[in-house]
Amino acid sequence: MKKIYLDHAATTPVDREVLEEMLPFFNEKFGNASSLHSWGREAKKAIEEARERVAKLINADAGRIIFTGSGTESDNLAIKGIAFSKGKGHIITSKIEHPAVLETCKYLEKKGFEVTYLPVDNYGLINIDDLEDEIREDTILISIMHANNEIGTTENIEEIGKIAKKNGIVFHTDAVQSVGKIEVDAKKINVDMLSLSSHKIYGPKGVGGLYIREGLKIEPILHGGGHEGGLRSSTENVAGIVGFGKACELAGRRWKSDAEKMRKLRDKIIKNTLETEEAYLTGHPEKRLPNNASFYFKGIEGESLVLLLDSKGIAASTGSACSSKKLQPSHVLLAIGIKPEHAHGSLRITLGRENEEEEIDYFLEVLPEIVKKLREISPLWKKS
Ligand code: PLP
Repeated sequence: MKKIYLDHAATTPVDREVLEEMLPFFNEKFGNASSLHSWGREAKKAIEEARERVAKLINADAGRIIFTGSGTESDNLAIKGIAFSKGKGHIITSKIEHPAVLETCKYLEKKGFEVTYLPVDNYGLINIDDLEDEIREDTILISIMHANNEIGTTENIEEIGKIAKKNGIVFHTDAVQSVGKIEVDAKKINVDMLSLSSHKIYGPKGVGGLYIREGLKIEPILHGGGHEGGLRSSTENVAGIVGFGKACELAGRRWKSDAEKMRKLRDKIIKNTLETEEAYLTGHPEKRLPNNASFYFKGIEGESLVLLLDSKGIAASTGSACSSKKLQPSHVLLAIGIKPEHAHGSLRITLGRENEEEEIDYFLEVLPEIVKKLREISPLWKKS
């Protein structure tokens, strides 16, 4: 059976070239980057080269990148880092953030911080006037994601950056899904902190990055040997960091052509899928990631759809991999105004650079059959 992977927002395979650069760092070049001898210096040099590569991808200076253990950790470090350095205050975020941001904010609420969760419109966009209205004297941070992981909507991040700057408020963006797919330029968007994750861009899992603007002081969340300028104590994951660096270098060279290819396939998926009765696009029709096609289908359960697609060799998702184990409908779909009974029928297709048109044709051939089959046995399906 053909195996077709259409779940690249969950994770991507490690690119061959990335893997090759990583391999020597597991055994031959195994040094601890803090050691003074040649093994240590070799590891340190490799980390600094990777830092340059990560920085280049987002048009930042290398010294402003901190390596972390994941996108989740980068979000935690950014948000708690500012909160703990200020001690108290108000944070503005949105209702459709990834749990790495939402749960961190909820935790901070328990510690006495106040948080405003901005609503979004039916496409998942925050309203810039709402943002301005919510800014208070004691607002210490605005954290708004660049691109949503479930519906692919890309926020007006430059506008948000301008407002944060005008009001002298620190601005963090979770760019885990946008980096490597659309332009991410830390300077252009006036961002103070930006989270990245390696495994979404053909690098290894368990490595992330946080860009921190020059002069911005935050508190660490891990204490120890003082690695990464004291902001992330832990012996560095040298092989992982090297892989992340190579993945960024590849993304820098290829993202435009990859995006163009994926956009065509994505548009074909959207056009054809919307021909299915009672199938609806979620997210913005234009302001969306080039690799994301997300839908909901009335009268079926997204989980059953994903399992039947899997039985045909196709990997897709109902929403985010992180929330797909919970039985509640996605907080993102509810926030864009989809009724809970319809939100259960969600399907997210996220393309990667290796997907080819015949794979999409196969997916488009099996999808309507599966939808039909599920509706035949569904108590939820009645034609309106
Ligand atoms: N932020 C967003 C928008 C994501 O999509 C993800 C992962 O799905 C994360 C953060 C977490 O990244 P990681 O898997 O590296 O912890």
